[in-house]
Amino acid sequence: MILILLGPPGAGKGTQAKMLAAELGVPHISTGDMFRDHKARGTELGKKVQAIMDSGGLVTDDITNAMVQDRLGRPDVARGCILDGYPRTAAQADFLGTLLRGQGRAVDRVLSYEVPEQAVVERIGGRRSCPKCGAVYHVTASPPRAAGVCDKDGTALVLRDDDRPENVKKRMQEYAGKTAPLKRYYQDRKLVAEIEATGAPETILAATRKLLGR
Ligand code: AMP
Ligand code: ZN
Repeated sequence: MILILLGPPGAGKGTQAKMLAAELGVPHISTGDMFRDHKARGTELGKKVQAIMDSGGLVTDDITNAMVQDRLGRPDVARGCILDGYPRTAAQADFLGTLLRGQGRAVDRVLSYEVPEQAVVERIGGRRSCPKCGAVYHVTASPPRAAGVCDKDGTALVLRDDDRPENVKKRMQEYAGKTAPLKRYYQDRKLVAEIEATGAPETILAATRKLLGR
């Protein structure tokens, strides 16, 4: 099963993607996580994308598509995957379609996470991340056991550069201009299911399960 999770930054896609991946037994593929990993390891790719990511812009389609092509060629994706944060442009969606077709596969469903803008702003503003393991918390909705430190490894939590208010604005613009139109793109292919994504993560997961007939 190949699922695409579509929705604005802060819609809770990452959380849902992790839970869905565990439940379906397929890998969670987050291009944002992959880019952050490259940045943290200081690879060539990481250096190339650092500035654009930090400012809230989109990495070029060529770089992103090449990274995804490599990832989708690995054996663990044979049974499917959850795509979180990819595709983000029509060119990426076209590329993905062609790539999968070449492997005799196709996107099964596109889950569109629907959230009012205000909720998104609150979620991003309160989000804190562990720079070591990538765990994500929220100051009120899902705080760590001890304020400001990661439950898993005790590292001090940070506000990601791209979660700073000035960069959030840019991300929202990129989303509205380039990514939001993908809903129509996939609606034309009869693949979209809308998910009301305002409640608790468990409630949203339950709705998703039902939708997928599980
Ligand atoms: P995310 O964690 O999904 O919000 O991604 C963080 C950042 O990584 C984005 O703001 C972009 O700079 C970059 N990024 C992630 N996925 C993509 C993509 N599919 N296309 C272009 N840039 C991306
Ligand atoms: Zn951690």
